[in-house]
Amino acid sequence: MATESLSGRGAARPTRALQAALSGRGAARPTRALERALTQPISRPSAQPLIELRGAGVTYPGQRSPALSPVDLAVRHGELVTLTGPSGSGKSTLLSLVGLLLRPTTGSYLLNGLEVTTLGDRDRTALRGRMIGRVFQRPQLLASRSVLDNVMLPVLYAGLRRPQRANAAAAALERVGMAHRTHALARELPAGEQQRVAIARAIAGNPSLLLCDDPTASLDDVAAAQVIRLLVSLHKGSTTVLVATRDQLAAAHSSRSLAVDPGGSGKFAGDFSQ
Ligand code: ADP
Repeated sequence: MATESLSGRGAARPTRALQAALSGRGAARPTRALERALTQPISRPSAQPLIELRGAGVTYPGQRSPALSPVDLAVRHGELVTLTGPSGSGKSTLLSLVGLLLRPTTGSYLLNGLEVTTLGDRDRTALRGRMIGRVFQRPQLLASRSVLDNVMLPVLYAGLRRPQRANAAAAALERVGMAHRTHALARELPAGEQQRVAIARAIAGNPSLLLCDDPTASLDDVAAAQVIRLLVSLHKGSTTVLVATRDQLAAAHSSRSLAVDPGGSGKFAGDFSQ
């Protein structure tokens, strides 16, 4: 099993087929499935799930038991799904699988109808950059850079010019209610605002899918509630959101809340398919 790099820096050159699909130019003919995965309208509900895991499981190299037992999971476009469960039960592993950072060691994964399990590393990295935003437990901002600079970083890789990147970043800051802090240094913000900037960074490239790994873990209750409200508003604006969390508020506002086996065996309770 290959573990792929998180940053994708320098490695995100897609194959010609995917490049053509990404740019909309016909330089090389992408496969139909690839084209569909990239062009499927995401603002309208679709019969086809955005995420479809079919018996997908992960066993880390050198481990006997799976970190994630084979699971069937279908998430429709625009859903907000929370994953709850104790530490060590496989939530992060599931997010890494769905976020194309890990490949399943059993089963398969279709992203917007495209079988991505067997796709090459370059295409997976390019798809990740194009379709998936990630939010972590800690904001991981560059402390001495401005809020705007921090949000512009990921769109750097999308091949946009600086003014376009700045516009995309400003729009994302507006969406998370942080436009008034655009020129502040990241280190000047309280933790809750830093996390909202991290969410702006994750959505600046307009990903169809936002993956959040325990995004409120390091926040006080008030800041946590603001972050949850923000995730709910993004979901209402049609972004598909998957959140691993221990936050009851997040679960209460989700379309579905999926519980990880409390025994910590890595098995998810219940049927995850639609
Ligand atoms: P959670 O997010 O619910 O805390 P994780 O997905 O992080 O759970 O971990 C699930 C299981 O996989 C745990 O037993 C953990 O120790 C193990 N695990 C996580 N990452 C690795 C890794 N890179 N190599 C080996 N085992 C791992």
